[in-house]
Amino acid sequence: MSRTFPLEKIRNIGIIAHIDAGKTTATEMILHHTKRTYKVGSVDEGTAVMDWMEQERERGITITSAATTCHWREHCINIIDTPGHVDFTAEVERSLRVLDGGVVIFDGVAGVEAQSEAVWRQADKYGVARICFINKMDRIGADFHHTVTMINERLRIKALPLQLPIGSEKDFRGIIDLVENKIIAFPDLDSASIEDSETLLAKHRQALIGNLAELDEQIMLPYLDGQDISASQIKAAIRRLTISNCVVPVFCGSALRDRGIQLLLDAIVDYLPSPLDIPAISAINPKSGEKILRLASDDEPFSALAFKTVSDPFMGRLVYLRVYSGRVKAGAQVLNSTIDKKERLGKLYVMHANHREEIDHTETGSIVASLGLKMISTGDTLCEPTRPVLFEPIRFAEPVLSMAIEPKTKADQDKLDDTLAKLAMEDPSFKIYHDKETGQTLISGMGELHLEVLMERMFREYGMKVNAGKPQVAYKETITLTVDSEGRFIRQSGGKGQYGHVWLRIEPGERGSGFEFRDQIRSGAIPKEFTPSVKAGVKSALQSGGLAGYPVIDVRVTLYDGSFHEVDSSGLAFKMAAFMAMRDGMDKAKPIILEPIMEVEITTPNQFMGDIVGDLSSRRAHIEGIEGRDDFSSVRCLVPLAETFGFAGDLRSLSQGRASHTMQFHHYEELPANLTEQITTRMGRTR
Ligand code: GDP
Repeated sequence: MSRTFPLEKIRNIGIIAHIDAGKTTATEMILHHTKRTYKVGSVDEGTAVMDWMEQERERGITITSAATTCHWREHCINIIDTPGHVDFTAEVERSLRVLDGGVVIFDGVAGVEAQSEAVWRQADKYGVARICFINKMDRIGADFHHTVTMINERLRIKALPLQLPIGSEKDFRGIIDLVENKIIAFPDLDSASIEDSETLLAKHRQALIGNLAELDEQIMLPYLDGQDISASQIKAAIRRLTISNCVVPVFCGSALRDRGIQLLLDAIVDYLPSPLDIPAISAINPKSGEKILRLASDDEPFSALAFKTVSDPFMGRLVYLRVYSGRVKAGAQVLNSTIDKKERLGKLYVMHANHREEIDHTETGSIVASLGLKMISTGDTLCEPTRPVLFEPIRFAEPVLSMAIEPKTKADQDKLDDTLAKLAMEDPSFKIYHDKETGQTLISGMGELHLEVLMERMFREYGMKVNAGKPQVAYKETITLTVDSEGRFIRQSGGKGQYGHVWLRIEPGERGSGFEFRDQIRSGAIPKEFTPSVKAGVKSALQSGGLAGYPVIDVRVTLYDGSFHEVDSSGLAFKMAAFMAMRDGMDKAKPIILEPIMEVEITTPNQFMGDIVGDLSSRRAHIEGIEGRDDFSSVRCLVPLAETFGFAGDLRSLSQGRASHTMQFHHYEELPANLTEQITTRMGRTR
């Protein structure tokens, strides 16, 4: 069976950008040029094709990654839309995992902003090759060279401009293409500017070739020989350097005015990797744990990763898959190796932004949606049942904010539970808890906006109206001293007895280390079969700490001694003993409360800076740096999450709506003593 597209002609890419940099507009233009949309949507009017979820239209931001397929120069480009708002980092993370390349869009006025840096670091983690597009060259204040410098300095990567803008702001009238050695003139480019541009072109092209010669041997030799270097040699070198993450090519344009978009499509084809250019994906055999590599080839056994699940109101549950190896027919039986269950694949679709195309099979390198899989969750591996493999799961950050919710009408509790379960299956950064003491349902996520959007979805997609409490910070606890602690759970009067006895060493772990458990029982003081029960008891004690009842993190617990009874010992007795040892030990180990600290970056016209800094100091902010440029400045700071509520509104009124900000989780830090006291008093556990 021949492939629809040869593997080397597939590009799986994401368009990555800070909110408002123009990702949606650029995507629209790409879809327009690749003839997938007949009428260009506009974000400002709320009709963009990619933003197909209703509340995205209203907010004008792209939240979920919709995958869309389009064609350019006989290549198949699968675009996975990534969100720009860091409250949705889980979305970015899961998209990056399945991408081979990324187009990073910057706003030519704002340059490289904090969120772009955060996403850049995530993309580094997954080794995603990137090209940059400096957008909004038509806007007042747009500065190509400054943005290139910021890419070099802030992102610590060698930025390689392959184009230069001719003019800027309203005089942005053309693009100098250093590779093809030509000038692309927009209407009104006068002949004097063309002449100047030609001089610039000659100078910068030579510099580019010199640069490449230093980085790439295949250019270096002919360069040193004084030979002419052709456009195709230059392209091949840039492609090698981009794929190996040595450089990022930089392009420019204006998505809104449709300038530079076709050249960007050329660059996607020319410089970003095909599935053949990325390393074979590594996996394990779920039964033996043995390491396996799956090559990008149709001849390999089928394997795929479910990177997104969405409940489509008309179709039901759609699961987006990235096929890493082999091919599979619609309706075939596959193994979900993450949960070790077989399931039928159902129908398969290639998704375009506004319609879907049913296909009867799919092949290596594709991104497709499947309808009919019931048990699957985001991050699961699907594979050929006789050749099982398991990919590393996608890791998501723990939520930092929670909120109590209840249905508007009591009778709807079951419906609420059902709705929440469905949403949590789609979004791994969204968690649900039932507080046994208060009977409340708590939802938690990555920020205020994340929870707001989820509540809107409950209403729109499932008709579920809820009352919500105030957002609560997800505090954690940890300990600061090492202690040895004994736990005894012994009941030996009448009937069957209980006997569990442990000695635990409880130590503070490094920040971010989570929980570690070691078994160092040597002399058979406790039979090995009880170790899992001891660990379960420890874990259960960690779920609600000793100080104010928050989960305890960053601790190491070692089981090193204890005793048992031939008849009376049981798993339950050891679990209880461990639980008691932990409760007791944590009390003595000087527990403290940790609070989430957010990294905030604010960009504002200079005249409002004083008031904004004043407001930040009242929020316990730690200012890391202020950078000024012409009329605008930006300030970066660390602010406790608890102090950020209402910040967006205050910033708006302090700056007449002209300042913008971004916020993301940074780290956990010890809560100051006076606030610890307030919290422990409120939680009714003063000591
Ligand atoms: P996203 O949040 O990254 O998806 O950004 P959008 O595509 O929604 O764009 C944000 C805003 O910037 C919208 O009002 C767009 O009309 C505007 N915009 C996008 N591209 C350009 C551009 O090239 N020039 C100018 N002047 N505005 C642009």
